Amino acid sequence: MANNQRRWSMASELLVVAGAILMAPSAEAQDLDGLKRAVAPAMALSDEEIIELIPDRAGIYFVGCPNCSGGTQENQISWTIERPQEVFCRFCDIRYPNDKYPDDQVLRVTNARGDEHEYPYWDDADGYHHFFQAKGWYVAREYFQDVARWLAELGGKSTLGDLGAKYGVSAERIRQIEKRAMEQMRVTATV
Ligand SMILES: [Zn+2]
Repeated sequence: MANNQRRWSMASELLVVAGAILMAPSAEAQDLDGLKRAVAPAMALSDEEIIELIPDRAGIYFVGCPNCSGGTQENQISWTIERPQEVFCRFCDIRYPNDKYPDDQVLRVTNARGDEHEYPYWDDADGYHHFFQAKGWYVAREYFQDVARWLAELGGKSTLGDLGAKYGVSAERIRQIEKRAMEQMRVTATV
């Protein structure tokens, strides 16, 4: 699948960057440290936080920034695990939603299973819907898919016990995070 292909190449890019920064003699060690850093923020979350943060509905990729003219192709808005309840513009740094651009409208969408989902948005003067939160859901879902795969890769490169010692959590906990992320992804994929 094209989507999987893209995610794999992102992982490769991450490993290349990690390797370049570390300049360590062992290629094996470079990959391992880069992956450990990549999964660290997710490892710090509780199970409840992970379940809460993995979106329960499909996200929306194309959402522009109404506050600036930076960037192109409605790809200005992004999201990070450090501030998971917000999205931000990569060019003017504004965070959404906010008082000036509130998500004060709601689009209701019924999926193939008959479940209704709400998509809050803000409308500009031309009637363009800005789905700030849904953009966050899109990026968050990709992030957790990456984390699940990084954990799987780490499992192959190190022992789960090593990881547990590094993060102060049990090997079982690491397996749970990976399993929950993958399960939640499957649920979301059917939406
Ligand atoms: Zn902007």
